[in-house]
Amino acid sequence: MTTDAAPDVSRVASAGGAVPASRALSPSRAGDFMQCPLLYRFRVVDRLAEAPSVAAVRGTVVHAVLERIFDLPAAARTLEAAVELVLPQWERLRTEEPALAALFGDDEQAVDSWLSGARDLLARWFELEDPTRIEPADRELYVEATIDVETPEGALVLRGYVDRLDVTDDGRMRVVDYKTSRAPREVYEAKALFQMKFYALVLWRRRGVVPALLQLVYLGSGEILRYAPDEADLLATERKLRALWTAIERAARTGDWRPSPGRLCDWCDHKALCPAFGGTPPPLPEGGPELVVAPSASALGTPGLDEE
Ligand code: SF4
Repeated sequence: MTTDAAPDVSRVASAGGAVPASRALSPSRAGDFMQCPLLYRFRVVDRLAEAPSVAAVRGTVVHAVLERIFDLPAAARTLEAAVELVLPQWERLRTEEPALAALFGDDEQAVDSWLSGARDLLARWFELEDPTRIEPADRELYVEATIDVETPEGALVLRGYVDRLDVTDDGRMRVVDYKTSRAPREVYEAKALFQMKFYALVLWRRRGVVPALLQLVYLGSGEILRYAPDEADLLATERKLRALWTAIERAARTGDWRPSPGRLCDWCDHKALCPAFGGTPPPLPEGGPELVVAPSASALGTPGLDEE
């Protein structure tokens, strides 16, 4: 994914129906709540700042290159061409978000080694896929759909960005997502596939066709995880999202945002504020519950910067 600005979600959602754009959930924020309700609160309600990590920003650059490589004619989509895009994409990102320059200070050697890591990830992608033989139907595709939920307002917008959508001549869809991390161990694959089933559900609801294949491309370890969903999978995902949203609204109403400590706490920017580690969360901001059901762009996550 990229750091391109999110679309005007109010406009996009209202164009799709009568649901206010604010009651929306992305795979990233759904994943936050499933991981830890307090983390969701810190991100969506308190909107606490988080320092971009070197790995996440490299993921953003790599995603930008993987999007733009398809602007070139098929025969020109070589590893060399992709590598040539790395520096301009980093410079573009740094210009758009000057705070990112502080990641490295004046250490040019650190920047070189970081960029070289991005090139290694691209080299691995070329071992996994051949872009001269792929013509994506869409890249960085914004998708959204509305589902019913058992709350007073009765509807929830699901939305997010699909890294790449391939569509065959006979209409079969392949949903592709790039990860710059390593592939998860088998026991964690279902969690990784949740995001893809979320997108598949949205595409099914919008287009009336279940995507034929979900494909997670792990550039960190050079592996591809593929899954062919069916309607039962997507209905189960929809039920799960309904239950999740009901739980989010309940937490908002009661103010009970429980920490759920786990192996990812070491990467949590808010550990110092977390009661599970002796911290004290800030008081809930004025209108906290409304911020949950009206989370605006925070519900979408930051394209690219959620990626590793
Ligand atoms: S440190 Fe762990 S338990 Fe605490 S808010 Fe972060 S993710 Fe949740």
